[in-house]
Amino acid sequence: MSDLFVENIGELLTFAAADHRAPAEQRLGVVRDAVAWIERGVVRYAGARADFDATRVPKSAARIDARGRLVTPGLVDPHTHLVFAGSRAGEFDLRVRGATYAEIQRQGGGIHSTVKATNAASDDGLVELALERLGRSLSFGTTALEAKSGYALTIDGELRLLNVIAQIRKRVRQAISPTLLAHVLPKDASAGTARADYVKRFCDEAIARASTGKLADCVDVYCDEGAFTLAETRAILEAGKRHGLALRVHAEQFTHTGASRLAAELGARSVEHLEAITDDDRKALAAAGTICTLLPGAALTLRLPWPDAHRLLAAGCRVALGTDLNPGSSLSENLPLMMSLACMQMGMSAAQAWCGVTLEAAAALGRADLGRLAPDARGDLVVWNADDHREVPQHFGVSLAAHVAIGGELL
Ligand SMILES: [Zn+2]
Repeated sequence: MSDLFVENIGELLTFAAADHRAPAEQRLGVVRDAVAWIERGVVRYAGARADFDATRVPKSAARIDARGRLVTPGLVDPHTHLVFAGSRAGEFDLRVRGATYAEIQRQGGGIHSTVKATNAASDDGLVELALERLGRSLSFGTTALEAKSGYALTIDGELRLLNVIAQIRKRVRQAISPTLLAHVLPKDASAGTARADYVKRFCDEAIARASTGKLADCVDVYCDEGAFTLAETRAILEAGKRHGLALRVHAEQFTHTGASRLAAELGARSVEHLEAITDDDRKALAAAGTICTLLPGAALTLRLPWPDAHRLLAAGCRVALGTDLNPGSSLSENLPLMMSLACMQMGMSAAQAWCGVTLEAAAALGRADLGRLAPDARGDLVVWNADDHREVPQHFGVSLAAHVAIGGELL
């Protein structure tokens, strides 16, 4: 845990005020002419330079001159499928040339190709691939993220992927929140009693082992046509709840299933996608305070309708933004790009997009110490090659992160 003093900050976003109902512009907590002081990895001060006694900072502390530029908390990516092997570049090219889902399946594409490659890879191989992705993620300013299992499908295989995530967590400074994902049914358990048995084993074995081994914070279910039904989703989420895991649901992506209202009813921490959501769903999610995690990369890749962030926010929902990093529908570690897409295509203001990758994403991870620069928060920050926070979503596709610190340590 390190000491770090950042001086000469032109614009500082603190996100210090806790009330999520305040307007996004207020929630940014903008301070001009500011400094930030991180002691032993924890924020002690982030605010106006004039109110800080710089003699508090010991000579031994690392220092950065922000040269009058923008400083923000480290970004939080609340939705990634971090661990997988294999490439689906061929499938990507088929899709952009107009191939149908069935044609892609016939050519050996789709999720089962990733399952095959992931199950064939060694633990070390999966760790190395994930570390490369985390390096890219860090280069865009992401200092914490969620990571799901989901590309093994067998019960033992999913537990192996959670163990791989546990190994990765020991190798990086980024905070990683692990999620056990019920992704799709295995090919040999897609119908009948085999299907019912699989769902039961997922509830009784996978969730119990993930929970007792402290391998996952959350359980997540992909509820859609071709994946889990609403009844199966309820069974898995209720089992997760019994075992003390927080809940997430991939809901209303391709078809409307009712999964978002189920998530609200069960007090889920987050719901993901929501391309096909209704007004009643929005009301239920707003009332429950469930974080709505929107994934612009998937809508972009699959040419789906853009998730309507504007209507969610207008209904009082809390909206986070994630990369959905995965080999099929969103191969990107670039969280600022998701902010750009959210502003350009989904009706979010720059301030709302900033809240979506800091405070709200941290809430989706269940981490009040992330996504803000206030006393007792973890010392994760980014010094940007930008003067104004609105430039980050405006200047799309590049990395403007000049310095990234995690726990006060410059990386
Ligand atoms: Zn996903």
